[in-house]
Amino acid sequence: MRSVLLFQRDQQKCAASHKIRFFGSPIRNDTYNYGCFLIFFTRMNRKIGEFGGKLPGPLVLAFGALHGNEPAGVDALGRAIQMLEKEKQRDPSFRFNGKLVAFVGNLQGFQSSMRFLEKDLNRIWNLAEVQSWLQQDKESLCAEPLEVVEIFEAVRLEIDRFPANEIVFLDLHTTSADGGIFSIPTDETGSLALARELYVPVILRLQDSIEGPLLKFAAAGHFKTAPARVSAVAFEAGQHEDPQSVHRSVVATISCLRAAGCIHPGVLHTEEEQMLRRFSTQFPPVVILRYVHHIGPDDAFRMRPGYLNFQSVKKGEHLADDVRGPVLSPLDGMILMPLYQVKGSDGFFIVQ
Ligand SMILES: [Zn+2]
Repeated sequence: MRSVLLFQRDQQKCAASHKIRFFGSPIRNDTYNYGCFLIFFTRMNRKIGEFGGKLPGPLVLAFGALHGNEPAGVDALGRAIQMLEKEKQRDPSFRFNGKLVAFVGNLQGFQSSMRFLEKDLNRIWNLAEVQSWLQQDKESLCAEPLEVVEIFEAVRLEIDRFPANEIVFLDLHTTSADGGIFSIPTDETGSLALARELYVPVILRLQDSIEGPLLKFAAAGHFKTAPARVSAVAFEAGQHEDPQSVHRSVVATISCLRAAGCIHPGVLHTEEEQMLRRFSTQFPPVVILRYVHHIGPDDAFRMRPGYLNFQSVKKGEHLADDVRGPVLSPLDGMILMPLYQVKGSDGFFIVQ
């Protein structure tokens, strides 16, 4: 009952924050019945926008804020679509092959600026559970399971509207610590090729090491994408509140469209892209994930202060503390995504 009460309060908060943040966005009014509580709130549309769709080519499905407290990706996707519109106006011969459709990931989390409400939306894409949620009445679903069902339906609708031989999933994220700028492909060749075109270090095997990410579900064809080929890459743009994270996410989106063949290789190069290329030269182009420190809700995990992404760590180094005592690095390497926020299911990652 306590969680229902908390959730009700969060939803009330949603409506207010939405009106400030999404001035001018199309909205709809929804009523949700969570257990014994009937909740009224105003929701924005999940779809941020779209571009193209007149010429054949890949279908690019892009997501921002799959974690609700990561607004940079949503902002960036809106800006990328504006850039494309402006380019089309500036140059009548501008061609866009295929179609781009951009979505907000965790809509309820995003509207209440929370990473997630009940479950991490990037850890629950397990086929059996998703199929079970799809069978249920939407009004009986709470928080993230409802998000999963709505995303599934939205993706299916776009695939039906624009049948393509190739479907690209792009998932934009930010982190709580500084300096986390990298791409994470799923393990198909096409995804790795795409990740390498985003001008940032590529982290291999990370998608495989975490439980139930959206992109693994997508790469496995579970959105019923066959016979289309699927490529899937996540982009980590930096710290949540850093304005540069928005610019980097715009660059990643445009670079992804270029790599997928939607736009000509010579168009829409920006100063931000040059900055990102220069910045990335200080890091290795490809690293492999070697260790993930998973945490449970009762671990009371606390990262020691001062760790940055790609910072070198030594085997045995005291990285964090939890209810069992000090948490030591199990190997030499570089730390990624040290957790400096309350919510999260992974304490840190180590790459080599
Ligand atoms: Zn995230």
